[in-house]
Parts: sequence; structure tokens; C-alpha cells
Amino acid sequence: MRITEIYQSIQGESSYAGLPCIFVRTTGCDLRCSWCDSEFAFYGGDKFSIPEIIERVKQFPARLVELTGGEPLLQKDIPKLALELLELGYTVMIETGGHRDISVLDSSVIKIMDIKCPASGESDKNLWSNLNYLTKQDEIKFVIANRRDYEWSKEIIHKHKLEGFQLLFSSVYDQLEPKQLVEWILADGLPVRFQLQMHKFIWPSQERGV
Ligand code: SF4
Repeated sequence: MRITEIYQSIQGESSYAGLPCIFVRTTGCDLRCSWCDSEFAFYGGDKFSIPEIIERVKQFPARLVELTGGEPLLQKDIPKLALELLELGYTVMIETGGHRDISVLDSSVIKIMDIKCPASGESDKNLWSNLNYLTKQDEIKFVIANRRDYEWSKEIIHKHKLEGFQLLFSSVYDQLEPKQLVEWILADGLPVRFQLQMHKFIWPSQERGV
């Protein structure tokens, strides 16, 4: 499969934020979110076999692995890679845009799944049937650019009865003040976890390898 980078850093998002984590970043994405910060992963990359990826992963001491992209579910061997990493005793997470079928993954893989809001320009691509395959260990992420996105996200949570899941709300970097989003959440007492992308504060000028 095509890989952009494999590196160790701290997990910057989700309820696992702050933990040492090995990132396997695949190449390519079939969405073009208006605020995407991973455009460098759209093209290029190098071809790796599953044993080659595992060999690289084993060079780092962390026991948590995140499969990310781009869109990792575009790579047909991702479910197999996830399974082999699980068998080696790793905790395996996947970060997906939410528009590809997650049912191909073993149920032990922790899914961090986006629901794309209107300002992303890709909200018509959300694959709603994926909600049927999420379990309580999985997390749903809304990246919010403005008040319309916020209201839309609230409606989606209510409509699909998502309150029992770990819900993550992030503000789009440079488009919505984190403080503003926090104030909206507090005013509504919304049962969501506000999150900042930790790695962007630790390494503000670095795009790759963090
Ligand atoms: S799904 Fe992720 S990688 Fe793809 S365009 Fe959107 S933000 Fe970028």
C-alpha cells in the first residue's frame, strides 16, 4: 500500500490525546475538505508491504498505533494490517473521514470517525450507514468552522441519537476561535468533548512527522 510517513509522536486528538503513538499515514484521499491540513498526503508516498510497515512500527517503543491519512480506508490492505497489529498486541486506532465503509475493520480497531459538517464542502459524502457499525469504544469527530456547522452538528447528534458516544468537537484552526466554540458548548451544556489539536501547539510550524 502507499504510505506517506511512519513516525512516533504524541496523539494530538481524541480521548487518547497526549499518549505516545505511532502514526502510519497512508497516501491519497478522495475528499477535499475546505480546511484540510493533510494535503501533503494526497499524492506521492512510497509502496510498502504489510511486513515492511510492521518492521518500521516495531522500531518505536509506543504500543498505540494510529492508521491515518489521507483516507486510510482507500487502501484495500488496511483491515489486514490492522488485524496483524492487533495480533502483535498493539492498540490500533484508525482516523477516517467517515465516507468509506468501516465495517471492513475488526471490531477491536478503535474508530475515530469524522462526520463532515457543511463548511467542509463534503457533508454530502457522509456514509450514514457507518453509524450502525460504531461501538462505545469508538469516537465521532465534528470539525466546526462556524455557527452553522455547530447548529448542524447539534441536530445530527439529536437526530441519530449519538449522545452515548464519545463526541469530539474541534474548531477549524484559523477560522473559529476555540474560545467561541467552548462558549457555545457551555451555553448549551452539550455532552461533547472539546479538543484542540495538541501537536499544532507543540510544533506550530511543522506539518509532517508530528
Ligand atoms: S478527509 Fe481528511 S485528508 Fe481527506 S480532505 Fe478531508 S481532512 Fe483532508
